[in-house]
Formats: sequence, structure tokens, C-alpha cells
Amino acid sequence: MVGAARVLDTGALLHLPPNRLSGGLVANSQREEIERVDKDRALLIEGVRLHWRSPSEEALQRAREAAQETGDISGLSDVDMDVLAVALEHRAIIVTDDHRIQNVAGRFGVGWHPVMNEGIKEHWEWVLACKGCKKIFPPPENVSRWRRTYGTCADCGGKLKLKRGGT
Ligand SMILES: [Zn+2]
Repeated sequence: MVGAARVLDTGALLHLPPNRLSGGLVANSQREEIERVDKDRALLIEGVRLHWRSPSEEALQRAREAAQETGDISGLSDVDMDVLAVALEHRAIIVTDDHRIQNVAGRFGVGWHPVMNEGIKEHWEWVLACKGCKKIFPPPENVSRWRRTYGTCADCGGKLKLKRGGT
């Protein structure tokens, strides 16, 4: 994930140390939200080099459609939709702890990782493991932790389950 553009959701903007915010992509609508919930934080953020963006109507429309498909749309705010649309437009990873955002991101193939893990060098990847014969398969594209079905094992027909692999 090193080097990939990162979109910071509002939780990330509120909780990451400033040096971890630097260079992140953010939606313009998040500025107002941060000012509403934490004025000190809003001031601090003004001093950080962030890339403020407004998503295109087309990207927003795609984000809305994905959220409708996953059934998450009613739980997502306009700001959340902006964050998703900015990530979609910039092919960026979203730093978020919001399960709904993670879910929709997975739906349209945008990666994400949790706020609390941001900056920690993690050396695991997702793999598919057969519940029957325990064989390990390469990870699917566009891994989403919340997706439930990953097909069946080519060897024994057992269900494949997503898990963390070692290196
Ligand atoms: Zn198997």
C-alpha cells in the first residue's frame, strides 16, 4: 500500500496524528463536518498539507449505485458519499473504520484499511482457505472483509473463506 493515494474519511481526519494525514486526499465537504465536531482539530488540519477535492457528479452517481447495491445507502451521509466518490475517481485507498464505507468500497473495487492500522507495517495478506481440506488459494481481487461468498475449493468442493495469510 506504500505509495498509493489515500483518501482519509472523517474518522481518519479526527484521529490520525498530523504526520499521517499529510498528503491525503479529502473531500471538501469534510472540512465543514470537522469544524462542526472538533474546532481545535479543524484548525490543526488547516496546517496540514491535504488535497481537498470535490467529486464529479458521475463518480457520486457510481458511489450511490454501489451503496444501493450493498444496502448501505441509508446509513451513509452525503460526506461519506463524497469520500467514496473521491476515492473512486482517484483510484485511492480509503482509510476508514466505517464498515459501510468499507463495504461499498469493496463493491466497486476500491481498497481500504482501518484507521488504527494506518502507518503500521503489516506483513500479512488476505488468502482464501478451504474449510474442508484447508488448502490455501491466492486472494481474490478487490478483497472485502464483508463479502460473504468466495466460491468453492477446486479440489474438494469445500467453501472458501477469506483469512489473513502469513508471509
Ligand atoms: Zn478443499
